[in-house]
Amino acid sequence: MTVTQNRIEKNLQAIRGEIVAACERSGRDASKVSIVAVTKSVNVETIRNLIDVGMLDLGESRVQQLTDRVEEIDAYLQRRRKPIPSPVRWHMIGHLQRNKVKPCLQAAEMVHSVDSLRLAEEINTRSEKMDRTTDVFLQVNCSKEQQKYGCAVGAAQHLAEMICSMDHIRLVGLMTMAPYSDNPEQDARPSFRRLREIFDDMKHDGIGTDAFRHLSMGMSNDYVQAVEEGATVLRIGTALFE
Ligand SMILES: *Cc1c(COP(=O)(O)O)cnc(C)c1O
Repeated sequence: MTVTQNRIEKNLQAIRGEIVAACERSGRDASKVSIVAVTKSVNVETIRNLIDVGMLDLGESRVQQLTDRVEEIDAYLQRRRKPIPSPVRWHMIGHLQRNKVKPCLQAAEMVHSVDSLRLAEEINTRSEKMDRTTDVFLQVNCSKEQQKYGCAVGAAQHLAEMICSMDHIRLVGLMTMAPYSDNPEQDARPSFRRLREIFDDMKHDGIGTDAFRHLSMGMSNDYVQAVEEGATVLRIGTALFE
């Protein structure tokens, strides 16, 4: 089913209102919080509507679907009469296998889900071959429950240092996923706080350049808590399409 522009705009307005309120509560500047629209559960027509309301940062969690959508949206952008104000940027947000790095980089501008040295090395090598530098987030598993992806908290600093030593990837931030919960206040907030602390520790230890400044955390269910804990990039799907 297609979600109309009208509906997207209404949802977006409500989400932005929540972001502004959360920033006021936590003494933050709302202009420092951006949204990646996660399109994995909607059709291509809905993605076109997102672009038409001005949402140009789009996220997918699987390489095959990412590739298909980039192709379809590129075709749309070519036949669109009015040019868009800036290019669409595709974000790979889901678990990435090393053997899919090449098609992933052909489609996506940045990767939020780097969680191992071998994956980082593969992205670096592929990026060099493509004569580019790829922006990456280090995904950290901050929740106590066993989650499938994300590096362990204790491994994060070393991994961040290794990423910073590679010439064709650039560490721009940390990413985490909180466990899904009906009570994000109790169950998600601690993960976000933890990621923020890890980030502050890394900064304190001089890791990364000025480009290392983002926290990619918060989804439809828990973005308010994420903003209060310092998120700069929210990855939101469902709440845009209700
Ligand atoms: C699906 C997904 C999201 C968005 O989830 P919603 O609950 O629909 O907002 C964010 N991040 C990742 C990694 C996802 O896979």
